[in-house]
Amino acid sequence: MTINENYDGEVSSEQQAMIDVLNDAIDPSQSDVVVFLTDHDSEASHQSLAGDFQTQILDIDDIKRYGDGDFATPAGTVAHEIAEQTEKQRNGITSKNGFECCHTAGIIAENAVNGSSRINRSSGLKRSGGSINGKPLYSGTLKQQYSRGGMIKTILNKVVNNNIQQQ
Ligand SMILES: [Zn+2]
Repeated sequence: MTINENYDGEVSSEQQAMIDVLNDAIDPSQSDVVVFLTDHDSEASHQSLAGDFQTQILDIDDIKRYGDGDFATPAGTVAHEIAEQTEKQRNGITSKNGFECCHTAGIIAENAVNGSSRINRSSGLKRSGGSINGKPLYSGTLKQQYSRGGMIKTILNKVVNNNIQQQ
């Protein structure tokens, strides 16, 4: 796969950031980056809240619903998950222990694509009992703050068993 490099229009810095994340992931001179996609019709969607570090599953329905479309966008979340997996897979990280550095790479990509800064994670999720393929199920209100130009916005997404609900 290649990205169309013949387009001669202007791209915003956020669009360029997305192109950079994708170009890095598909760079033919480096090893492949593999992700799996699911929607909410499958059991796998309950293993992944937007993206699952270990199984490399991206839940497209979660991603579509995440954020506010302004400070936090689906494109930003896709960039986060792909940059995180690129970092993980190219460095041969297989355990949970490597999560933090890969997650940081994900946040850097997410911020560049959103044009905002993700602040902290004050989750708001609780174990709702049970698990799918060893993944504990979480429900509650996912709370995440973003800032841009001195403005802080708190974004809330309702989650049931690792699936983000329609607003
Ligand atoms: Zn992450």
